[in-house]
Amino acid sequence: MVEQNLEQNPFLAPSTLPYALPPFADIRDEHYRPAFEKGIEEHLAEISNITRRRDAPTFENTMLPLEKSGQTLERVATVFFNKSSADISDFTNELEEEMAPILAAHSDAIRLDSALYWRIKTLHDQLDQLGLDAESRYLVERYYTEFTLAGAALDDDQKAALREYNQKLSTLTTRFEKNLLADTNDLAVVIDDVAELDGLGEGEISATAEAARERGLDGKYLVTLVLPTGHPYLDSLTNRDVRKRIMDASRSRGSRGGENDNRELVLEITRLRAERARLLGFENHAAYVTADETAKTPAAVASMLGRLAPIAARNARAEQADLQARIGDEFTLESWDWAYYTEKVRQAKYDVDTAAMRPYFEAERVMRDGVFFAATRVYGVTFTERTDLVAYHPDARVFEVKNDDGSPVGLYVLDLYTRDSKRGGAWMNSLVSQNSLLDHPVVVTNNLNVPKPAAGMPTLLSYDEVNTFFHEFGHALHGLFARVTYPKFAGTNVYRDFVEFPSQVNEMWMLWPEILANYAVHFETGEPMPQAFVDKIRASSAFNEGFKTSEYLAAALLDQAWHRITADDTVADVAEFEAEALAAVGLDNPAVPTRYSSTYFAHTFSGGYDAGYYSYIWSEVLDADTVDWFTENGGLSRANGDRFRSLLLGVGGSKDPLEAYREFRGRDAVIEPLLKRRGLAE
Ligand SMILES: [Zn+2]
Repeated sequence: MVEQNLEQNPFLAPSTLPYALPPFADIRDEHYRPAFEKGIEEHLAEISNITRRRDAPTFENTMLPLEKSGQTLERVATVFFNKSSADISDFTNELEEEMAPILAAHSDAIRLDSALYWRIKTLHDQLDQLGLDAESRYLVERYYTEFTLAGAALDDDQKAALREYNQKLSTLTTRFEKNLLADTNDLAVVIDDVAELDGLGEGEISATAEAARERGLDGKYLVTLVLPTGHPYLDSLTNRDVRKRIMDASRSRGSRGGENDNRELVLEITRLRAERARLLGFENHAAYVTADETAKTPAAVASMLGRLAPIAARNARAEQADLQARIGDEFTLESWDWAYYTEKVRQAKYDVDTAAMRPYFEAERVMRDGVFFAATRVYGVTFTERTDLVAYHPDARVFEVKNDDGSPVGLYVLDLYTRDSKRGGAWMNSLVSQNSLLDHPVVVTNNLNVPKPAAGMPTLLSYDEVNTFFHEFGHALHGLFARVTYPKFAGTNVYRDFVEFPSQVNEMWMLWPEILANYAVHFETGEPMPQAFVDKIRASSAFNEGFKTSEYLAAALLDQAWHRITADDTVADVAEFEAEALAAVGLDNPAVPTRYSSTYFAHTFSGGYDAGYYSYIWSEVLDADTVDWFTENGGLSRANGDRFRSLLLGVGGSKDPLEAYREFRGRDAVIEPLLKRRGLAE
């Protein structure tokens, strides 16, 4: 092995490419580890240069160097974590596992540094005398809050205890995730006779045959489980017994005894989180988490979710009665029947056939004449493909985004297709985060998981994929439009219970008549999508929302319940705790199971959404209220877009988001538009 020349490591200097696009063509696997090492070393030296100072803390000698620190680490980490999601290999898996504890310890080393905390706290104590502009003032406030919540104010013994809690929790949550993956694989349902799969399409049946073959079960069929309780096949499988087998398998994950059982882990994780919260001065983990969200308290979350729960449960019961009427008295509707009969009612009542829409959603047209076109009409930005610039994978395309006066906005990277080396789902991330302190431009990416068509065939998107595209592009615009001074506030660096808001708003343009007419054109005949399709979609928009809202709220409330236990509470039985928590909010209808049960609730026990699963509907309140604002003010127009851009998207995380919202809307958000959208009017 040859000693590496660090001078040739592309992570060690800023990129010289347009918009500081990382030099992907020069980056090789062996560059990452030394760059991580060098980056951490450099970062610690920079922090030590701040804390070793003998002079009194000032904004200039403390906050500015703190914000400028860690550039090398930032460069290698963004490129690496993009790769470990979108271009996974054995190499990324190994390095990720190796780096996770090192990076966690590095972050603890900085956030628990007493000398650094003392300087930040000193500035915070004198905040009114410092004469800072609003964004600089907010920077001190945010650092002070984050460091305090991370435990910087604790004494040495408490800090040692905190580090131990953090480490134990990181091990336990990783184990939860591993168990869940193993049990999900083990519980895949084996089908012997293809007749039992009646109702599935040809493609779906061949996928189950292929899945069986991969496990050495030639000639059989394997239904692999997905993460939520429900399964996409349940709406079409005609065999009631097979539906029940899939539902039972899904719901038993992590609670069957044996080595993949997650019940003890649930109890231990929630107990440790409660103890850690007490160490940090909070009554429970939910109080600790929400203190640094726009919600602020578990009571605020409980009040919002609690208001929706009884209405959602009532609507679900009405839907249930409809479904039962269809079945008659042959049998009682069970959870595994819900999707199947719902689909029948949907077709009978609304005649919606989403499959027939695909030919009108050709991917290239959706992108250029839909997603991009909407941004041009609303915000005046234009898009030019830059085939001269290389991204991290041949499928990832690079576009330059400019304002209508020709001034640069940033680069947008689109990576549309699914592949074995990409994780599931759809997401946005930043490769270069805008800030004026370091004169950084902006580069953002969108990843989707659209199946690649056979060579020469067009990519026809499903209704949901088009919706996801508009959604993720909303995150991209949030990143692209941010114009902030400090790196900490770049783009989508906002509270978790606020971050989905801009992306949800962007979904509104998908069916906006002027936009839809521009992109939804039959890929062969060139004919526009029939108005009847759109009318049916609109007419059925609140259909089955009682069920959907109930299963979501059940999970959100369950997540809150687990994290409202205190360090003095003892919970002995997971299933009992779960049943009581759901009964207490009236969401214990057996036909409408929670979207995730505790033992397979990855969001809350391994996914970083602990005490935060409420975020999705919390952001949707702002989203629905904003869509109303656009509509009241004439809908699609540059004036409306410019206002939304300058007052909300452009400020990134640089001010209190609810204050920004108030400025934009002229008042606080109200919940009624959300209730109306979900058919939950009281
Ligand atoms: Zn999103």
